Amino acid sequence: MNPAPEALAPYAAYEQHSRGRRFKEPAPSYRGEYQRDRDRIIHSTGFRRLVYKTQVFVNHEGDLYRTRLTHSLEVAQIARTAARALHLNEALVEAISLAHDLGHTPFGHAGQDALNQCMQDFGGFEHNLQSLRVVDELEAKYADFPGLNLTYETREGILKHCSRKNARELGTLGERFLNRQQAGLEAQLVNIADAIAYNNHDVDDGFRAGLLDLDQLCEQPLFDQHYDEVQRRWPDIEDRQLIYEVIRRMIGHVVNDLIENTSSVLAAKAPATIDDVRAQEKPVVGFSEEVREMHLELKKFLRENLYRHNQVQAMNEQTQLMIEVLFERFMSDPGEMPLSFADRAAGDDADMARVVADYIAGMTDRFAFSEHERLT
Ligand code: MG
Repeated sequence: MNPAPEALAPYAAYEQHSRGRRFKEPAPSYRGEYQRDRDRIIHSTGFRRLVYKTQVFVNHEGDLYRTRLTHSLEVAQIARTAARALHLNEALVEAISLAHDLGHTPFGHAGQDALNQCMQDFGGFEHNLQSLRVVDELEAKYADFPGLNLTYETREGILKHCSRKNARELGTLGERFLNRQQAGLEAQLVNIADAIAYNNHDVDDGFRAGLLDLDQLCEQPLFDQHYDEVQRRWPDIEDRQLIYEVIRRMIGHVVNDLIENTSSVLAAKAPATIDDVRAQEKPVVGFSEEVREMHLELKKFLRENLYRHNQVQAMNEQTQLMIEVLFERFMSDPGEMPLSFADRAAGDDADMARVVADYIAGMTDRFAFSEHERLT
């Protein structure tokens, strides 16, 4: 059941109606515009670095844990399935998915919190806005324009959330945060696919790391119902397979619910175009109430039991300190950064801090470790 591209729903993103690229370019010969976006993202430096960036576990803690790269691929996989079923633009959801975490610092959320703290007096640091900065400015590969010059719709999807203050500086792209409007359906879909991916793979990684156990997990209604079914079917199944069989069912459960619930909301609201979707008061893509609650509960459970687990916290404290040290070091001696950054660090303190933040945010976990060692 794979709808051909021409079977796009009227409210999907059509590239003929795209709001375009910041710098005009000739149309590609054998690809669509959103395919070209995806290809530029895959060829970017930022994308290659995702392989050595922390999702929850720091890169050197084990080879089997998710990294930002495998997380992004899982998001794309989930979002593409739902996009096809909903007759949305699959190439666009793939592009947004692969780019959505490009702005993440090394060391996951701990790294972002530390960098944000360092940047308090200089406008703060926010990974979502940084992802946009990466594709709009920091990737410097093309002779004709800064960044990757992606389409409006891909950039709209990358900017999931944004403070009103930052939104005011972003022109058209920031308007929806000021006017309480929505992004297109493809962007909304990737946002939820992101949560589906991490909720499920963090259960897997947390269990693998021995930080979550089956008794705890069975207190989660979403986990428990599928656990019972797998146990009934294969009473002697070993734990690793059991977890996998449960997780694949959980993903199937929530993705099917997402598709079915979104379909009926779309049928009721019947938006005629992507601009009708954008004008809605609330997002259209979403779970049924029952699944939304279970999914939210699982997210809370992971926050309390995995992301705040002593062992994860201990690593977080160590890596946050490293980010602070690196920030101070580069601020007092910008010459320690590569020339392409040091040259840009000529303005006032705020300008310099932004350059330092760009440099640190771009680091992989292992590069941050080695820079820290070199400088201390
Ligand atoms: Mg993500």
